[in-house]
Amino acid sequence: MATDDHGGALLALLNSTPVEGGAPTDLLSDPAHAADLARRFGGEGTTSEVRELVRARDGLQVAARTGTVGAELDQILRDVEQEPLPLTPRGLRWQLAGPAAKLPAARAVIAWAEVAAEQPGRLRPCENPDCRKFLIDRSKGNTARWCSMATCGNRMKARRHYSRQQSPSETGRA
Ligand SMILES: [Zn+2]
Repeated sequence: MATDDHGGALLALLNSTPVEGGAPTDLLSDPAHAADLARRFGGEGTTSEVRELVRARDGLQVAARTGTVGAELDQILRDVEQEPLPLTPRGLRWQLAGPAAKLPAARAVIAWAEVAAEQPGRLRPCENPDCRKFLIDRSKGNTARWCSMATCGNRMKARRHYSRQQSPSETGRA
């Protein structure tokens, strides 16, 4: 790979605004959690890194939901560049250079861009309408529908089962 794989961190970033107990939450408003995520993108966990990471997150969520790529994502990439590390017998590796505060956010945008280019249509919102999470579908048939089978998958199945059981009696009453 030309760059480090940040796919897992990318999903953690996109899924940092889950609905918990019926209310949308922002896990990045917890400084410790936010710093930890910035470190997963190669940062040091500073508040300025986190600020840029939140900008990246908000833009990437819109892109993953609507397919619209906002200008703020280009802005995050504006001052960074890939520099080749010294060649080794194992090949060429690149490192990202630029303003320190922007590097974790830029790595997140790059990770998203790689998924978009190499696995088109695989990164998408969970089909549970009450869920705000995303999934990267790695299944062969590209048929995954939920961020998690254990939570949303089972919940949606139970809901369908419930509405099937309810509809005949409702029709009878009407
Ligand atoms: Zn879900």
